Amino acid sequence: MPRSYPWDGIFHFECRYTVNMSETFYPIHQFPSPDAPPPVKKIKQRYLLHIGLFLVTVVTCVMAGAQWMGRDPNEIDNWGYGVTYATLLLLFLTAHEFGHYIAARIHKVDATLPFYIPMLSTLSMFGTMGAVIRTRSQVSSRKVMFDIGVAGPIAGFIVCMGILIWGMTHLPPIEYLYSIHPYLQGMKVLPPYGLTFGNNALYWLFAKIFVPSGTFLPPMNEMYHYPFLCAGWFGLFVTSLNLLPIGQLDGGHLTFGLFGSRHLTISRLFFFVMIVLGLLGLYDELALDGVINARPLFVGWVGWLFWALMVRFIIKLKHPPVPDMAPLDRRRKIIGWATVAIFLVTFSPLGIFQIPMGFKMPQRNHEKENGAVPVMFHTKTMNTPSHAASGVVSTDCLREPVL
Ligand SMILES: [Zn+2]
Repeated sequence: MPRSYPWDGIFHFECRYTVNMSETFYPIHQFPSPDAPPPVKKIKQRYLLHIGLFLVTVVTCVMAGAQWMGRDPNEIDNWGYGVTYATLLLLFLTAHEFGHYIAARIHKVDATLPFYIPMLSTLSMFGTMGAVIRTRSQVSSRKVMFDIGVAGPIAGFIVCMGILIWGMTHLPPIEYLYSIHPYLQGMKVLPPYGLTFGNNALYWLFAKIFVPSGTFLPPMNEMYHYPFLCAGWFGLFVTSLNLLPIGQLDGGHLTFGLFGSRHLTISRLFFFVMIVLGLLGLYDELALDGVINARPLFVGWVGWLFWALMVRFIIKLKHPPVPDMAPLDRRRKIIGWATVAIFLVTFSPLGIFQIPMGFKMPQRNHEKENGAVPVMFHTKTMNTPSHAASGVVSTDCLREPVL
């Protein structure tokens, strides 16, 4: 299995409202004059195709859900294990897409229903690459662009918060994890190896607020066996990917709405941030693999390099102008800044990464000199059964030595 899974993030491109994708789409930068009539050709909804794709995506998400529960997804008998995960993930995705769709309809922008994109769990651990909405009519103003752009992430974010709060207030006892990994029983410290989800501010905060004291909160390398935590975290991750303030991503529409032509500076800045985080992630990969004898820093994710290339060459950094460039009203500006806050609290700089089995941190020179005991790094919550029994629940032990 590869170390990182950059293709598992879901970007969706339905927000390229002004891109020329068919003969009746408006090309970028070639808008008709503001008083030209809108195109009359209406989008025909292909209901059977939408329903068919949705149903196939249900199946692939159920299979992915079974896989997250440590079951073989190719055995139909195991599919029951994946139903909760699939329901939650599709609930999130549907909320996000219909947020865009309903906003488009309100503004009389002609849009298709979402096309769900199924993906076999062997190719994408999450069972889907998201969904796509296509639009045909022109978006006339910054205001409309902004509304359609932020409606999706806000709707998805609200659903995600519900999923996470439910998940954290209804955590099963640690025996649930033992039923998936029997070898963990009796271990004083849970091993920090394997696939690990990077924390984000909201997940961290919710864990502090909603996990009842004395309850075992699984660490970030085990929490994906818990369907509510897995779907909730992934929903936040997808929300932050889409809210990257770049080009015609949802976040690009947001900054274009808030800052107009100055959005390009922010776009370039974030492209640069992604490159830096990606290189830091690459450094960690080499350190974790033992290619270089260094301590991983755990601040970046190599997958950001992939996404940086995606946004640079496919999505592009610049947002096309619209005929009506009038600035947003006060109410929209407040919603805009709230959406910026959503981006910041859902962003996981560490992405999804893998810590090789048996990895040990290289010793620092002074540790060798002092004869200090080598410490093993871990990058996740370290709640041991004894911690759980004593009610210690922590989620912020990045770089905490395990001893
Ligand atoms: Zn979106």
